Formats: sequence, structure tokens, C-alpha cells
Amino acid sequence: MAAIAFEAVQKRYPDGFEAVKDLDLAIADGEFLVLVGPSGCGKSTALRMIAGLEDISDGAIRIGDEVVNDLAPRDRDVAMVFQSYALYPHLSVRRNIGFGLRMRGMDRGEIDRAVTEAAAMLELTQHLDRKPSQLSGGQKQRVAMGRAIVRRPMAFLMDEPLSNLDAKLRVSMRAEITRIQKLTRTTTVYVTHDQIEAMTMGDRVAVLEHGRLLQVGAPRELYERPKNLFVASFIGSPSMNLFDAEIALRGDEVVLALKGQDITVSAGDRADRLRSQQGRAVVLGIRPEHLATAAPGLPTLKAEVTLVEHLGAAQLVHLVTGAVSSRIAAPSDDDEIARARGESLAMLPVELDILTGQSISLSVLSERLYLFDPETGASLDDRLH
Ligand code: ATP
Repeated sequence: MAAIAFEAVQKRYPDGFEAVKDLDLAIADGEFLVLVGPSGCGKSTALRMIAGLEDISDGAIRIGDEVVNDLAPRDRDVAMVFQSYALYPHLSVRRNIGFGLRMRGMDRGEIDRAVTEAAAMLELTQHLDRKPSQLSGGQKQRVAMGRAIVRRPMAFLMDEPLSNLDAKLRVSMRAEITRIQKLTRTTTVYVTHDQIEAMTMGDRVAVLEHGRLLQVGAPRELYERPKNLFVASFIGSPSMNLFDAEIALRGDEVVLALKGQDITVSAGDRADRLRSQQGRAVVLGIRPEHLATAAPGLPTLKAEVTLVEHLGAAQLVHLVTGAVSSRIAAPSDDDEIARARGESLAMLPVELDILTGQSISLSVLSERLYLFDPETGASLDDRLH
């Protein structure tokens, strides 16, 4: 096992396209790091450069202490797991898992031991003599994992390994991969466009956009302290509501002036810091799950309910406030359509009786009002608390 580091890594494809720009990222030995971002952000390219499947245009990649830029893929001692599984259809599960070891000329007894151990870890023992066509999607994915595990590589590199599975299986395999990674303590770099996978699996998550690393941190850190609008709206589901606003004073009170309404910031440190920013244009972000029924003394958003969706554990309430920001389109998510219609969303307890057409007031804690610069998208919350 080994640490992996990107040092000022650039990737320019032969047509001149820059897929990865100036990437600095250190992944600790034994860490589970998720590279996440929308389609085309360069995450697969970054992963493939670690594996040696893409050349590095500039900078260096280290695996352990060694710079591997010029090392052939087979000499890098990393195991790649793809979404397509890449199993040999004519070989049994046993022979698929042991394939890499046989190629290396490992002794038969040792191969048997390694395959038996991996199959037990992956709950594949009773399927060892089946062919891939006799397995479910989740089982095939576990065989692919088994093939990686038996090699005891320095690192696992996984490129969207769950994207061919149905929603339910994705959830269970997600937990399975996390469990196996914790058991083997193998450094893992995992690529996905799914922010829920990123948040649930990663020790740390690196968010990429247009080939640039925007932020890297523990899932909770990205959720609580996003450094910019992109990370703020990419992390969290449904995504953060965004409103164009201006910091203003109304008498003694500090307000965020939205189109058609003021949101008063509760008196305290946060309001005091905002006071000096009077007149500044901002983008205000409020997470749907941070909105609650109106409480006296808290910042309050007034809206009209356009739709109520019951999700079982909560209700997703669609709101019109007339003040939505078009700064950032919602990431390709279920909430995209609501956002396209200029709606905001609130995730509220099922116990509340909420009807379509109703006027509603919802509150949010002052420290959960996220503020961003409308020009650069940078967080202003360093943190104006
Ligand atoms: P996805 O989730 O869609 O796979 P990704 O974030 O993994 O996206 P990459 O596959 O790393 O993205 O591609 C990053 C960018 O580089 C994309 O804009 C893609 O079109 C471009 N790209 C990939 N391969 C080449 C190539 N061989 N030549 C030129 N551009 C390429």
C-alpha cells in the first residue's frame, strides 16, 4: 500500500484540450479518496493518469516514493476496477478472480488460497464455479473487486464501478466497497459523478470542475463550508437554493434584500459582520433541509407552495419566492426541473400539513445562510458568522 500524489499535473490531449489543470493533490496511504464532478470535468483522466493509461503532459505523479510518469501500467502495481467489470465470459468466477495471479506465474496452491480468501470476503464462495453470465450485476461487480483484491496492489483505482447497477444494488454495493476498503486498508481512488456516493464513501472528497480542483476535504467539511458556489450546489441533495440578494440596513437591522422581500439576519456576531458590508451584492444559499417552520427571531423566507411531494420520511415542498438566482444551474439531479422553473425547495417533516397554493413562512438559522460573491462565486463566509 502506498500514498499517491499529484504534483502540478497537467493533461493536454493531442488536440490541445486541457482536461486536467495544475492538479495538486496528496492522497494518504490507506485513504479512500473520491474524485467527483460533472461529466467532462477530468476525473477519469486524472484516474487514468495514475494507472498509466494516459500520459502526463506536465508535473509528476508519485506512488509511494516513486515518480511513476514513465512507468508502464503493468509496473505500477495498481488495480483498476471499471464499470464494465471486464470479466472473461468463458472462465469461471474462480478463474476470473485468479487470472492476474496465474499470469504472474504464482504457484497454484497460493492462488487457490488467495481466491478462497477473497471469495469469502466478497460472499462469492458458493458461486466460484459459475460463469459470469450466471451472475447478477452486483455479483459480477464483486468478482471484478475480487480480481483487484487478490493482487494485493498498492492502490485500487475505481472508475464509476457502480453505474451499471440498479438503484437498490448501488446502495448495498456502495457499503460493500467501503467495508472491503476498510478491511484491506488499501489506498483507493474512486471516480464518480454521484455526490451521494462521494459523500457516503470517501474519507475525503475532491471536487473537480473543468479540469480544476475546486475543493478537497472530508464530506462534512464540503457540506458545511463549501468554498464556492459550485461546490455548494454540487454537494447536498436536493441542491442548495440560491437567491440574488443585497446586504442592506433597515433601521438597526441587517437584512438580505431579495427581490420582493427582506430576510432579517438575527442580531448577533453574524449580523455585526454583515453590517460593514452594506450595499454589497451577494448570492444567498439556503439548503432545502435547513428550512423549517417559521420561528420568532430567526431569518424568515416567505413563499408560495406550488407542489408537495411526499417522500415517506419527509416532504419536498416546491416554493416560488420570485427571487431565485440563475447564477448556477442545478447539477443534473431530480431537482433540475424545479430549478429550471425558478422554484426553490424545502425538505420538511411529514407531520406538517402543507397544501399547494398556500402562502408559507419558513425560517433558517443565521449561521446557515451561505453567502457568495456573485462575480467569482467564492464563499464570503470566512465566515461572516
Ligand atoms: P465522464 O463522467 O463523462 O466520464 P470525466 O469527468 O471522467 O467525465 P474525462 O473522461 O476525464 O471526464 O474527460 C475530460 C475532458 O477531456 C472531457 O471534456 C473530454 O471530452 C476530454 N477528452 C477525453 N479524452 C479525450 C481525448 N482523447 N482527446 C481530447 N479530449 C478528450
